Amino acid sequence: MEDIPVDVGLIYEGERIRKSSMYVDLAGPKSKGAELLLVVPPDEVEDGKVEVVGPDVDQMEEGGRYPFGILIKVAGEKLEEDLEGVFERKLHYFCNYIQGFMHLNSRDIIWCRISKDAAKKGLKLYHVGKVLVNLYKSEFDVIEKIQVTFYTDEKAVDEHIARAREVYEKRDARASAIKDEDVDVFYSCLLCQSFAPTHVCAITPSRSGGCGAVTWFEGRAAVKVDPSGPIGEIPKGEVIDPVKGEYSGINEYVREKSNGTIERVYLHSLFDYPHTSCGCFEAIAFYIPEVDGIGIVHRDFHGVTPFGIPFSTMAGQVGGGVQSQGFLGISIAYLRSPKFLQGDGGWRRIVWMPSQLKERVRSAIPQEMYDLIATENEAQDLDTLRKFLEEKQHPVLERLKAEEAKEKAEEAPEEEQPAATMPELTVPVQAGAGAPVEFTITFKNAKIYAEKIIIRRKE
Ligand code: SF4
Repeated sequence: MEDIPVDVGLIYEGERIRKSSMYVDLAGPKSKGAELLLVVPPDEVEDGKVEVVGPDVDQMEEGGRYPFGILIKVAGEKLEEDLEGVFERKLHYFCNYIQGFMHLNSRDIIWCRISKDAAKKGLKLYHVGKVLVNLYKSEFDVIEKIQVTFYTDEKAVDEHIARAREVYEKRDARASAIKDEDVDVFYSCLLCQSFAPTHVCAITPSRSGGCGAVTWFEGRAAVKVDPSGPIGEIPKGEVIDPVKGEYSGINEYVREKSNGTIERVYLHSLFDYPHTSCGCFEAIAFYIPEVDGIGIVHRDFHGVTPFGIPFSTMAGQVGGGVQSQGFLGISIAYLRSPKFLQGDGGWRRIVWMPSQLKERVRSAIPQEMYDLIATENEAQDLDTLRKFLEEKQHPVLERLKAEEAKEKAEEAPEEEQPAATMPELTVPVQAGAGAPVEFTITFKNAKIYAEKIIIRRKE
């Protein structure tokens, strides 16, 4: 490998570059970008070539923020298109081996950062490309040729994002053509165990990995070329609950790979045994008890959810490989799954999502539900959300009213019991030095039942 001005190794994987030590930001929430890996015919790849379209790091201003695209083309006799997502996901890990280079997220929500130290040592995108060429070829024998292109020129980045999104759509559409019941084997991905040790992604035809990069087809292709790699087979086993998506094979596998921490998993529900969330999910589905509905927020949304907190705060509470009741890290592709949260009522339970995301998955939302789902434009908090849902007569209200009526019935006093009244109070109370003191106790919203009421005349 050519001289690289910084170290490269597994030990840098967890390196975080804080704002104070940042030289430049590439893509990220306040800019734009995308990563894409394509399997192409050998004559379309110039092996080892690294190109930067737009300014490289040495031509960027310190403290700047730049749009950023990564395109990797690979070729090899044994390669197939289904491997693209798996190899693309590896980009995250390989980039993070580079000292002073940080890569977060996936697909068109990537966020990269170069540290001041690395820039001072002379690290350029050209070097990052050379490292990637080397790591991909040394880890995957099946890659015979590889070429890396970085885009930092805004127009080139825009074109790259548009092309990348078309490819993502195509991959996701292919995955949604089959269902969980059509196959005998599911796949698992353990890539994120490096930072979420109990997280095991169960990848089925109806549920892609949380990052969105690994679908069932990609899992199958990955196992073929790298049987001992981070992606493995999960025998399906018995169907325990076809609606919530519980399978004995997944339970056994997850129990083993999480060292006994996770016992059971529902693929299609937020409750009881939700799938674990790692940290690089594209979106979060979250339960809103006040309306008994479910909201969805994605990484690109910078406003606040009706809970008054943004995606980043919620993500901090949900990730890390734990099962969080009422919260679930998901891929955008999962919103298009025919089994999307079917254990909880599916789209009929969705009450809120950012307008941009709603538009993006418009075709997946049942027509009769589209106008009933609030966005940040109609509901900014729980009060405005409830008002919107009432105006629209959202189906969750039926559930909510039924629940409230049930609770009321359960709490109602038996007929022979007297109505709520004052509790027995012993006044005046002897306080302090023995002087009688009168005081009033006010009960607000309290239900009080008594077998007998005694009213005494005040002496
Ligand atoms: S989110 Fe899941 S599928 Fe994606 S890299 Fe992590 S473990 Fe693998």
